[in-house]
Amino acid sequence: MGCKARVLSINGLKMNMAIDNFSERRTDSQSNIDSQSTESLEKYTVLAIDDDIAITNAFKRGFRKDFNILTAGSVLEALKILVENPSVDLILTDYHMPGLNGAQGVSVIRETLGHSNTPIVMVTGENSHASQNEAFESGVIDFVSKPILFPSLAQKIKNICNERQIKKQLEDLAFKDALTGLFNRRSLMPYLERELNRCKRLGHHCSVVTLDIDHFKSINDNYGHDVGDQALKLVSKTFTHFFQRTVDYVSRLGGEEFVLVLSNAESLTAQEQLQECRNAIKKIRLVVNGEEVDRVISLSAGGITVAPTSNIRDHEILLKASDNLLFQAKKTRDAQVWDNFLGN
Ligand code: GH3
Ligand code: MG
Ligand code: MG
Repeated sequence: MGCKARVLSINGLKMNMAIDNFSERRTDSQSNIDSQSTESLEKYTVLAIDDDIAITNAFKRGFRKDFNILTAGSVLEALKILVENPSVDLILTDYHMPGLNGAQGVSVIRETLGHSNTPIVMVTGENSHASQNEAFESGVIDFVSKPILFPSLAQKIKNICNERQIKKQLEDLAFKDALTGLFNRRSLMPYLERELNRCKRLGHHCSVVTLDIDHFKSINDNYGHDVGDQALKLVSKTFTHFFQRTVDYVSRLGGEEFVLVLSNAESLTAQEQLQECRNAIKKIRLVVNGEEVDRVISLSAGGITVAPTSNIRDHEILLKASDNLLFQAKKTRDAQVWDNFLGN
């Protein structure tokens, strides 16, 4: 998230323009597609799930030219592949398979793995209204009948992926912080509300952490605002390095204040990871006029882990509570104060 590539899409090819951070917006001429020499061309990655090996082999042959194609013979195998490849761009799934069927698989992929926005298309010989309804209710965005016509399916996939990329770029502009590329305050509230309820349904823990850089103003005062910005970007990058699961969420609330939402991790795990991350941030060295300066960056943090047994799901109450704990941590600074909401 911190060092986000800007993506443009043409004919199913992702044009990844590595820009150091989101705020360094290019002028129109700079962002033009014709500067291909500095950009890497990357295909969309498609995962095809089908229990018929002849079909998965046909996907490999038919799609090799246009996409990076991954295949799975069952939903279970697909889940493993998705954990290892969280940035899959689109999923194709069969309906009838041993174990979980395609529609059940879609629910698990969306709900448990947090792939709420990844487009999923069902490709099946099963054409009944009931199964189509089940598929759409589980969250597929389209339904394609077998036999598979590869050229038209490939074009459909490219259209879906291209539209999604454009939507994502617009969302990034609305919901990401321009300086750091992290999610912004506008994005945090609805995310936290959704995530707390999702964790309750799944029986997962959810931690909410509010953090603030200690004596940040003195970085601006001593080295200048640009070096303050450098510190904010490096701290953000360290957060995204440590918290990079699909269910980790890192946001900048404003100024030098951040909020993390860490799902599906027990309290102690979340606390240990945060401690490690704060230690790594202390090792950041700011560069002023080409020279590293000896200014350690520390953060104070207030965290709450909400157990699935707790009924407290009000995101505003939780944020306020974590902010109160941050206030306690600020008394000594460079500290993390934690609370656990277990019941009621
Ligand atoms: P404390 O230990 O109590 O948190 O003190 P602090 O100095 O970190 O906090 P304070 O609220 O006194 O100062 C925060 C400063 O952050 C003031 C503001 O000018 C600066 N700031 C806010 N946004 C940005 C930004 O985007 N870039 C830079 N460089 N500075 C910023
Ligand atoms: Mg089948
Ligand atoms: Mg501060």
